[in-house]
Amino acid sequence: MAQLDRSVYSGLFIGGEWRAPKNSTTTTVINPATGASVAEAPFGCDADADAAIGVAREAFDRGPWPRMSGPERARHLRRLLSVLRDWADDIGDLAVAEVGMPVSIARATQVEVPLQQLEYFIGLAEAFDPLTPLPTTLFPNRSGGRILGAGVVQRQPRGVVGAITPFNAPFFLNVMKVAPALAAGCTVVLKPSEFTPLEALVLAAAAQAAELPPGILNVVPGGRDVGERLTTDPRVDMVTFTGSDAVGSVVMAQAAGTVKHVLLELGGKSAMIVRADADLEAVARRGAVELTLFSGQGCGLWTRHLIHRSLHDEYVERLCAAIAGIPIGDPSDPATIVGPLIRPAQVERAERYVAQAVREGATIAAGGRRPDGFDRGFWYAPTVLTEVRNEMDVAQDEIFGPVGVVIPFDTDDDAIRIANDSRYGLSGSVWSADPAEAFRIARELRTGNVSINGGTGGMNPAAPFGGYKRSGLGRELGAEALFEYCETKTIQFHAG
Ligand code: NAP
Repeated sequence: MAQLDRSVYSGLFIGGEWRAPKNSTTTTVINPATGASVAEAPFGCDADADAAIGVAREAFDRGPWPRMSGPERARHLRRLLSVLRDWADDIGDLAVAEVGMPVSIARATQVEVPLQQLEYFIGLAEAFDPLTPLPTTLFPNRSGGRILGAGVVQRQPRGVVGAITPFNAPFFLNVMKVAPALAAGCTVVLKPSEFTPLEALVLAAAAQAAELPPGILNVVPGGRDVGERLTTDPRVDMVTFTGSDAVGSVVMAQAAGTVKHVLLELGGKSAMIVRADADLEAVARRGAVELTLFSGQGCGLWTRHLIHRSLHDEYVERLCAAIAGIPIGDPSDPATIVGPLIRPAQVERAERYVAQAVREGATIAAGGRRPDGFDRGFWYAPTVLTEVRNEMDVAQDEIFGPVGVVIPFDTDDDAIRIANDSRYGLSGSVWSADPAEAFRIARELRTGNVSINGGTGGMNPAAPFGGYKRSGLGRELGAEALFEYCETKTIQFHAG
């Protein structure tokens, strides 16, 4: 079993080796639960991004990786998977340290799930046939005769990919981009959030331990200048970005100058529709999870609870009781379910939205303040607001903290209208004893993912994931994700 030596990732990972940042800068990684320093991590700059792009370009234009067959690439990626499996506990510990993710869920959600996704993309690479034949057909020609023609559609790796990721699920989201990009034959420069460099560097260390060809995966933690370089440099063919819709639209504009292919996974404000015939106890338990998981720092969480008016008061009571039973505290304690927020600004954001909602007539049914007894770190109590109108900012904006709203509705069409009255469209759910009506509602929702009665309860790597409207462009996971990282070429033959 390979051991993770944390000292190896003390530099940027460029061209298969560790390099000091050109401006010799480091950043202090902070433990959000305590505010204490976890580590000093290398912090790259524009010149480092420039070097990494050069290496990735060379590896794509002249290296073996894009020229290998899918099964050959899969063999390399299986070694990567094996190293990462050996390091699973260490990677889970990093999520506890730099994100404040409770250890009770870190290993399962932040390591097992992405490794299942990597395995899924390895399977797709193994089965990958880049050529799809077109039917042989007779086409009319200009002089009235006929031409016998045939052809193939070829999928080729898109090229150099700039991957930019947020802080909330770093290892998970890094793998979600790197796995399909490498499986397709692209080369990658990855820039993680400045708050969470370690979970990107550990991926680089694993690439080195697995002896992936140098230059195919480069990791440059850094600030905005690194992100700007990745999205504007003409040597980068594609940008795959996960983050807020505000930064996503800037990224899209930055990438427009060089007409890059852009994949955007952005924010959400997803609705949970509860019909009058739903199992209220199950719904309340799940509603509590949706407001507390990752301390509300999850793009696809259902934070607008649309409840049939006949159930509203009882739902609020049960939801608040369920939340009160969820332990909040030290993320390294296995009993903890809810941890801190990433930084003080995130706490202040939650406070601001709740205060404004109250001024506009909302009522705090649970939380609404920093929890007692936490004098270090960045904390906000899971919060439920009632008497909320869907047009209020608290119901329209993504807060990215443990704050949810409960809004009553009268008819199914009313629920659909409220759910769709959002500039986002990432996720959502419908709860009902009538599966046919729940399915009808699901089909009406303008959102990329809908669960009925809890769905499969997890993330299916074969299910495309992504958003409508300001929640993004393109899809991650599923076979569609592999094609996001491929160009499509048509080659036609003159047969007679
Ligand atoms: P963010 O502020 O949008 O930052 C995301 C990434 O973009 C970071 O690496 C950031 O670097 C970088 N960046 C900032 N400005 C840039 C620029 N001008 N050009 C290129 N890169 C730039 O997001 P966040 O606060 O880290 O994460 C929370 C957001 O992510 C939420 O909105 C959440 O919904 C979304 N998210 C979406 C999904 C999904 O699958 N749809 C999944 C998870 C999270 P710095 O860290 O250096 O600023």
